[in-house]
Amino acid sequence: METSRATDVLIIGAGLAGLAAARELVRAGFSVRILEKSNGVSGRAATKRLASGAIVDFGAPYFTVRSDAMHRLMQKLETNGIVKVWQYGLPNWNAGHIENSPDGYPRYIATHGMNTLGKALRDGFSNEEPLEIIQNALVSAVWHNNFGYRAVLENGDIHTARAVLVNAPAPQALALTRSTLEPSTYLALERVKFAPCWALMVSLASMPELPWSAMRLDHPVLSWASFEQSKRAMPATLVLHANAAWSTAQLESNASTIAEPMLAAAREVLGDWIEPQEILVHRWRYAQAIQPHAAPYLAQENLVFCGDWCAPNGNARIETAFESGWAAATHIVRQLEQPLEQILTGV
Ligand SMILES: Cc1cc2nc3c(=O)[nH]c(=O)nc-3n(C[C@H](O)[C@H](O)[C@H](O)COP(=O)(O)OP(=O)(O)OC[C@H]3O[C@@H](n4cnc5c(N)ncnc54)[C@H](O)[C@@H]3O)c2cc1C
Repeated sequence: METSRATDVLIIGAGLAGLAAARELVRAGFSVRILEKSNGVSGRAATKRLASGAIVDFGAPYFTVRSDAMHRLMQKLETNGIVKVWQYGLPNWNAGHIENSPDGYPRYIATHGMNTLGKALRDGFSNEEPLEIIQNALVSAVWHNNFGYRAVLENGDIHTARAVLVNAPAPQALALTRSTLEPSTYLALERVKFAPCWALMVSLASMPELPWSAMRLDHPVLSWASFEQSKRAMPATLVLHANAAWSTAQLESNASTIAEPMLAAAREVLGDWIEPQEILVHRWRYAQAIQPHAAPYLAQENLVFCGDWCAPNGNARIETAFESGWAAATHIVRQLEQPLEQILTGV
């Protein structure tokens, strides 16, 4: 067991919200350490390399951009070749009929895989230093005493800080912080509901010419099909997402039983030419918040929560995660900049 040097802010989770917040806090002059349970960054903006060499997005397949702040970030990322527009509008499949989406709204992707969004934030722009991130660091509890906040890892290591920002999905955030929460914070976290999603990555020996690269599917099993080679030059690869109802019904099923029904559904929609070479399955237990928190972040003094599930407009997605991270960082800067006598007297 080791107790690490204290930092101003500990961030639990290197998802896009946590990384966006970290960048703002470092720019404001605070020391920041991120504890991430996996061996990568970017969370559900996730990418895998298959044996075929294909680089496949198996979490969020794309994102949209609406706010001025997001447009400014996209300009910077586009100039650096990190993001590009993939599609304008997306077709919708329903009972064998394909309707072209009339919205014509740009769908962005990260050029070399969605996880490069997180990597770009981690590495920084121009003269920025890379963020301090400890990977394979599963936080099992957070608590508060007179000396500040503490996070204890599964391996027993302890990290201390003046503020903690939790970027995990609300049910995981609740499990970590339960013992330190006031009733109103507890209830706010408990109210947030997520839907799961089973994702399938299928490398293909060949495929016919198709008039579209991705479709939303209104199907009893599937909600999404995309051909990843439309995003970047690579071997043909199909990504399928099961819909929320089917994923919920199969949530505890063994991963080895998931591919067959999803492939059967894909053949029904796309045709029986699908000949898989390699198949990978991933279960997202917390894929998208279907009942989000209606504010950009949640705070109990210097314990703050952020993520796509903090969605004032009800839409939990990548741009919401960024907005939430930025809003949470602004709150923490205000908290940490309070004069000492104000903290001591509580006024
Ligand atoms: C299948 C699927 C399809 C999607 N489709 C779209 C789409 O089309 N468009 C769109 O905009 N968005 C989409 N999304 C949603 C998008 O991926 C999320 O909105 C966004 O990535 C959330 O970012 P976040 O930072 O809030 O959370 P996350 O990405 O979940 O990051 C949380 C991080 O916390 C870490 N963590 C959790 N618990 C702990 C712990 N105890 N200790 C340490 N670390 C921990 C996790 O490993 C993770 O890295 C989709 C998501 C999925 C799964």
